[in-house]
Formats: sequence, structure tokens, C-alpha cells
Amino acid sequence: CGESVKEASDGRIDTDLAKGGRCHGQKVLTRFPPEPNGYLHIGHAKSITINFGLAQKYGGGCNLRFDDTNPDTEETEYVESIQEGLDMEKCKAGGKPWVGEPVYASAQLRCDYFQKMYDFAIDLIKHGKAYVDSQTPEEVQKNRGGGPNNLPGVPSSEKLSQCEGNVFCTCCTKVDSPFRNRSVEENLRLFEEMQAGKHAEGSLLLRAKIDMNHPNMNMRDPPMPLELQKLTNVCTGFDLVITTELATAGRPPELQDAIEGVTHSICTLEFENHRALYDWFLDNTSIVPSRPYQKEFARLEVQGAFTSKRKLLRLVRVGVSDRNSVTPWDLVEECWREDLEPISKRRLAVLDPLAVEIVDYEKEEEIAGFSRNVFIDRSDYQENPPEGYFRLGRIGSEVKLRYSYVIKLEEVVKDAAGKVVKLKCHDPSTRDVMPADRKPKVIHWVNAKDCLDAEVRLINPLFLPIPDPLPEGKDWVEYMNPEAWVQCAAKVERALGQCVLEDRFQFERCGYFVAWKHSSAPDYDCFGTPPKLTFNRVVPLKESSDK
Ligand code: ATP
Ligand code: MG
Ligand code: MG
Repeated sequence: CGESVKEASDGRIDTDLAKGGRCHGQKVLTRFPPEPNGYLHIGHAKSITINFGLAQKYGGGCNLRFDDTNPDTEETEYVESIQEGLDMEKCKAGGKPWVGEPVYASAQLRCDYFQKMYDFAIDLIKHGKAYVDSQTPEEVQKNRGGGPNNLPGVPSSEKLSQCEGNVFCTCCTKVDSPFRNRSVEENLRLFEEMQAGKHAEGSLLLRAKIDMNHPNMNMRDPPMPLELQKLTNVCTGFDLVITTELATAGRPPELQDAIEGVTHSICTLEFENHRALYDWFLDNTSIVPSRPYQKEFARLEVQGAFTSKRKLLRLVRVGVSDRNSVTPWDLVEECWREDLEPISKRRLAVLDPLAVEIVDYEKEEEIAGFSRNVFIDRSDYQENPPEGYFRLGRIGSEVKLRYSYVIKLEEVVKDAAGKVVKLKCHDPSTRDVMPADRKPKVIHWVNAKDCLDAEVRLINPLFLPIPDPLPEGKDWVEYMNPEAWVQCAAKVERALGQCVLEDRFQFERCGYFVAWKHSSAPDYDCFGTPPKLTFNRVVPLKESSDK
């Protein structure tokens, strides 16, 4: 992501600062605006790194702005989780000056900003740059053109082949509103009446007066309704919020940026077509306190994952019955391994335990943690081993138990159903020395006498490769990886009983794991000790040719 910071600044900020340019005299201020309708995902990491990274680099600041204007989908849980994810408290305590206090869009709109938004609307009306329209919202949308393919609810039989259905589509005639030339006085009167609730909701609409023939549909007199809405604000508990499309509804909030003193409003590429409007609003009034500039960057897309909350939420809800590129999953895993390698303690854990009895091992051994009965991983034994299989298979085959003895398979014990339940082995007493004449494979194991039970979850990519384009009649949801979440009843070495939440481990030969909270168990006690040992696999070790 360091690369991203370089890429996003794109010389723009340097130029601004050096030439006494656009944001001259102001401290660089960026913002990270998550909507609290889901948890942070890996895509957000890119935006976080760019926004906080630029703030740090230029000695400025970055506001965490909760874009909490849609109470139907937002939850306090997400507000908390996002702050936790960003480590806000730690950053502030650690004196990171670029981390600002969180701001809450809806609370700001309701309190501090509403008057400014309102004044801004009046200013536009007074300068003949906004008018009150009495057309229905449907008429407005139709008359703005963009072709029928751009309108909601148009049956495919009525879609036109020449209509591109995007914001630049010009296939339809644009029709001026019959109310476009209302006088300033009439507009002011109607707008005041709207605010006083004298007109039925939705019967009047404030529109920016820009250009009905503009190639970009966003510029064809966009509606900017200011209306009262009853909202329950998840962040602040306020329950009446005046909302305005000037600040919400899928467009970058230029006025909010301006009021907060944001200098660089960095967003993802889908907002590129909105930049003209962003600039128009700011350039057509004299009353904005500062002039932010919008800059777009490509979303982070990672193979096997979805980096959009809209899609992630759809998965949760159905309950599961410019140059965009896709980062290979392997690369993501490699980064995780690099990160985890130096901080993870090495431990032994057997994910799919198979009992092994070392039949001639009688004496009380002096090495702690070893006894007559151990568990090895079921995958280290094969009943019908293929050619070139070097672990336990045929009677007489040998392996070396890591840090311990070489054992030789003598007998396979099965239950009534024919399942292998135990291997009886013999110990040729080779502790910590490899036999000179042969080189048995080293495998991991735990001592049956004092190991602990643990729930281990193997978390794999959520999706199998999804063909692009999707085959006719297929939905991407059908490409879910059935092994995205594999639960194991594991046996782990005793020392792991001391772990605390979020401790990182490398389980030898298995991968990197994090001590996690068991969802159905009571919370951690005040020492942070987990009530039931649970580990999530962050990433497996690199594929090995370990036969
Ligand atoms: P949705 O897909 O439903 O719009 P989202 O995943 O974009 O949701 P937001 O809460 O709107 O989530 O995102 C907060 C910020 O993070 C936005 O500025 C957005 O541009 C950025 N962001 C979100 N996803 C990505 C991504 N995949 N790559 C880079 N930045 C992202
Ligand atoms: Mg959003
Ligand atoms: Mg988004």
C-alpha cells in the first residue's frame, strides 16, 4: 500500500504545496468516510492507507467520517468495530497527530452543517443557479435523458439498442422543465415554503440550474432536494435529522468536505463522473469556506474475495443456501506470511488427530511432554499409500516425530465400521538423532497425556475462481467455495492454554493462526484467557511437496 500512497498523491499534492497552489496555506486534510453498515474489509485498507498515509506524509490530518445517513442499514456495532479496526484509541494515545476525532455525517448535517447547507441553497437560488421544480421525480428523471435504458423499471423489450444506458448516453431528447425559468423571488418563496412543510412531500424539488444538454447526465440540472426526514441516527441517538442530497445519496459530499476544510477528497473511480458536479457546486457559490479537490483511485480487488460491502452484505443476508486489476490471492497470502513470520510463536497442533501408541515405550521418560500415547495428523497416514509416499502407510514404514523419536508402524487398529482409529508403533530409540542409514520424514504431533482440545477454523478464500463473463444463467453467488470455512476438532500442545486473544502462532506444518473468541462461548475473563480454545487460520504455509 506504500505504493498506493505514492500513486494517489500523483504529484498533485506536491504541486499544490510547492506552487502556493490550490490548497495553499491550508494543512493537507483528507477523510476516510465509511458507512457504518458493515465491517471493514481488505478494500478499505487501501483507502485507509492512502488517506491516513497522505495526512502523515504531509504533516496534515485525516478525518474518520462516518457516513451514517441511512439508518435502515446502519448499526452501532459497525461504528465501534470500524474504530477498533483503525486502532483509533491507540493512535491518539500514541500521539499520531494525523488521526482526527471521528465526525458523524448525520449529526453534523442536523446540527452544525444544516444552516450552511441551507444558506448555500439560498445563495444558489439568489444567483439564478437553482430553481424549484414542480415536476414529479419520474418526469424529472425521464426529461434529463440518458436513454430509457438508464431508467429504473424499464422492461428489456423496451430497451433501445443504441442506448448506452450510462451517464454519457445521448440517445434521448432532453426536455427542459416548464418551471426552469421561475423568477428568483418565486423560487425563494417556494423554497421557504418547502422548508416550512407547506407542500406535500415530494411535490417540489430543488434543482441546480446547470446545462440540460451537458454530455454528462449528472450535469443536467440534478435534483438537490432539501427535505425533512425522520431518521434514527445510529451514531448519536438523535432521532430527527434533516438530510439533504447535497451531502448524501451516493455522491461525494463536496459541501461537507468544504465545511470541514478537507483539501483532498480521495475516492474510488466510480465517482469520476461526479467530479464535474462536485466542482460545479464549489465554483458556483462564494460562501464555501474552503475549496477541496476530488481525486479518484482504483478500488482494490482481490481474487477469491469481494471488496464491496454491498456484495458482502448480500451474502450475509441471503444466508448462503479506469484500470481495475485483480490482485492474485497468492500475493495476499504471501504478504500475510511475511507479516506473521517474525511475530508468531511456533507451536504444535494436530488438526485432525489420529491416536498413535508406541507399544514398547514403558519407562517414565525424562523429556517432559512425551508419553506412550501421542496424536499425529490423520493426513500423515495413508492406508493405501501411492508410490513415493514417505510417511506412515505400509507396515514397517517410519517417520520421525519432531524433536523426538523415529517410530515404525507395526499394527493398524480399526473400529467396527472399518475406520482407522489407532496406529501401534514401535520406537527404535533414536531420540534427537536421525538414523544414519535412512532419512525418515519429520512430522508434528502432540502428547495425548497433556494436550488440550481446541476448535480450529481453516478460513479459505470465499470464492472459487469466477469466470468473467459469467456463463448465461449463472450468478456469482454460485461460485462460493464450499470449503471457505472448515472446522476441526484439534488437539494442541499444552502451552497454548496460556494464550490470549489475538496471539499469533505458527502451528508447525499447518500455517499461521490467531487465537480467537469462540462465538457461542462466554466472553474472555479479565485476564484475557479464552473460555474455550479457538484458533482461526489466517493463512496456510506455502504449498510444499511434502510427500
Ligand atoms: P459499497 O460497496 O456498498 O459502496 P464500500 O465497500 O465502498 O461499500 P464504504 O463504507 O462506502 O464501503 O467505503 C468507505 C471508503 O472506503 C470509501 O471512500 C471507499 O471509496 C473506500 N473503499 C471501499 N472499498 C474499497 C476498495 N475495494 N478499494 C479501495 N477503497 C475502497
Ligand atoms: Mg459508501
Ligand atoms: Mg462504496
